[in-house]
Amino acid sequence: MTLKALIISLFLSGNTLARVAPVKSPSDNYKVKVRIAHGLKNVEVSGTDLTRYLHPVDQSKTYGGRKKVKFNCHYFSKDNKKVSNQILLASLTSGTGLVTFDKKKYQGELHVVTSGRNKKSCDVVNELEMDSYISSLLAKEMNASWPIEALKAQAVAARTYALHKIQKAKLLDSSFYDLENSEKHQVNGDFFDVTRRTLKAARLTSGFVLKNKLGKLTPAFFHASCGGRTLRPDEVWSNKVVGYEKVANCNYCKKKDNWQSVISRSRLKKIISWAMRKGYITKKLNLDKKIRIYKDKRNRKFLNIKVGSRKIKLKKAFFRRYFGRVQFPSNYFYLADGLGKGPVHFVGKGNGHGVGLCQVGSRGLALKGWDYKRILSHYFPELNIKKIY
Ligand SMILES: [Zn+2]
Repeated sequence: MTLKALIISLFLSGNTLARVAPVKSPSDNYKVKVRIAHGLKNVEVSGTDLTRYLHPVDQSKTYGGRKKVKFNCHYFSKDNKKVSNQILLASLTSGTGLVTFDKKKYQGELHVVTSGRNKKSCDVVNELEMDSYISSLLAKEMNASWPIEALKAQAVAARTYALHKIQKAKLLDSSFYDLENSEKHQVNGDFFDVTRRTLKAARLTSGFVLKNKLGKLTPAFFHASCGGRTLRPDEVWSNKVVGYEKVANCNYCKKKDNWQSVISRSRLKKIISWAMRKGYITKKLNLDKKIRIYKDKRNRKFLNIKVGSRKIKLKKAFFRRYFGRVQFPSNYFYLADGLGKGPVHFVGKGNGHGVGLCQVGSRGLALKGWDYKRILSHYFPELNIKKIY
């Protein structure tokens, strides 16, 4: 047995290797690879008529009936000191098309990958067809009971976001997945999150995406509720994205303020000092001096502050980034109190970053009778809807 085969056999915790022809994955240009787990010491995958393909030794084995296979990730990484970047270890498919991992059933294929440099653990990646991915995502990112035209608008936005991520991952060529299953990217469900309506929304919009005037895929962002108007990406993050305009009239979330947050003076100092470290504030400030805040309006992007005799502008979006989504549910807020010496009191509207498609607004427009194309044109006035497959 070669060293490589020995490592693999340790990794498989006792399973013997069988020499069967490798399984060829179906060639489909529109598949998405989603990282569904990260940093695991052990991985257990089960399924009926399971086929396990081991990449490092190019070997495949199919098990008849119900079978559970285990992978001991720490063995593999510990014994192979040369492992630095990620390595694709195994791929699993089943006769039923569903593979079980962590008590959830996934469509398509599951891949077991090392977590990366010096990490004695594995990641699990689910590779599946785009429209299956979209149909499982809709129940998590929106609500399967919402009007079908709102679900369809969400489907096009999520498909565009995913395809843009796939393009980026291909350019980098350094990762075994395109997206994370997290709020950072998009939250997708498992097979049991798919409903008749989410499937319908994915199928009826199959291949439709949003492109900018240059004919390029654009990251189509979305959020729960804008609070009355949406923001451009550069108002929240630092990057400008071609094809974005803010939408000032989202009538369905123009309701009353729905959150408030109180920040102590010492925490205000902390965020200013963080912004200085990050280079967002270039002026040299002495934070032991008196800090004054100026009167504010909700639609201002910056909070105007004076530290000693120096005036600074602190981007409001930094508060959500620094203090988190629980303390700052949206980027649409203003200073309600705190001009004096006491704690700083903020009041805000909406939920989410506020960029792109507003879900509460889409629901309202769909109930009013708008179709998904009109809803998308409302939130993405500069983008065109195109069918690419
Ligand atoms: Zn809205």
